[in-house]
Amino acid sequence: MKDFILNMSNSYKYYKNSYKQLIEENNRLNQELEKYKKIYPPKECPICGYKGIEFKHYVNIIHREVECPQCKSHERHRALWLFFHERTDLLKKGNTFLHFAPEIQFNELFRNSGMEYHPVDISMQNSLVEEKVDIQDIPYEDNYFDLIYCSNILEHVEDDKKGMNELYRVLKPGGTALILVPINGISYEMPVDKTKTFEDKKYNTPELREKYYGQFDHLRLYGTDFKDKLIDVGFKVIADDYIKNLGYEKIDKYALIKDENIFECTK
Ligand SMILES: [Zn+2]
Repeated sequence: MKDFILNMSNSYKYYKNSYKQLIEENNRLNQELEKYKKIYPPKECPICGYKGIEFKHYVNIIHREVECPQCKSHERHRALWLFFHERTDLLKKGNTFLHFAPEIQFNELFRNSGMEYHPVDISMQNSLVEEKVDIQDIPYEDNYFDLIYCSNILEHVEDDKKGMNELYRVLKPGGTALILVPINGISYEMPVDKTKTFEDKKYNTPELREKYYGQFDHLRLYGTDFKDKLIDVGFKVIADDYIKNLGYEKIDKYALIKDENIFECTK
């Protein structure tokens, strides 16, 4: 019995010490990690300056790091932010600019550009919207705008061909339309032919649209033929691989979608 108690007491001392060591080791590693985070935050938001370990994750989307926890920007906002800061020639004072579904992240940049700025949407819910405009029937004359920015709109529109025709009609010859949509195989991973846009009128409920198109309020799932659709209405697509050309380091740091296209269209 005496031996047993002695043994137990030794075991207890042994475990107590190793537990203490584990806690110490854990604290030391945590301190290292904090130091590492400060020295080299792996992620950065070019819009608001957020620096941290990661962006907020979204389900249903191929790319996992989506939203900036600080300014709520998504990948496409961060990419466009970089794009507009590089392509300052597009935000030329006095030029006419049509912006669909204006995003708060760009509000200051666009409003301070000295352009004739038209932030529009199909609804007036967003307080940044100044005019109610249906992309299928844009209330402006032909060749009016020097710049059009239309990001993630066409997948919500009943007649997207009509929308693209309208964008073409109101763009000035020599002007630029920046058009973005989510594309299967890039933004979503759905088990249908990725080269063709997938649309079926029978998917007419939020549940079916979520299941087949990836989001409850999308009316179709674009494939890589989206570029051909733009060319079909008359646009010249002069570039679409801006993000890929930023290089791996920036794509990783700003959590961008490598293969996402910014379709830079002109006429
Ligand atoms: Zn941010």
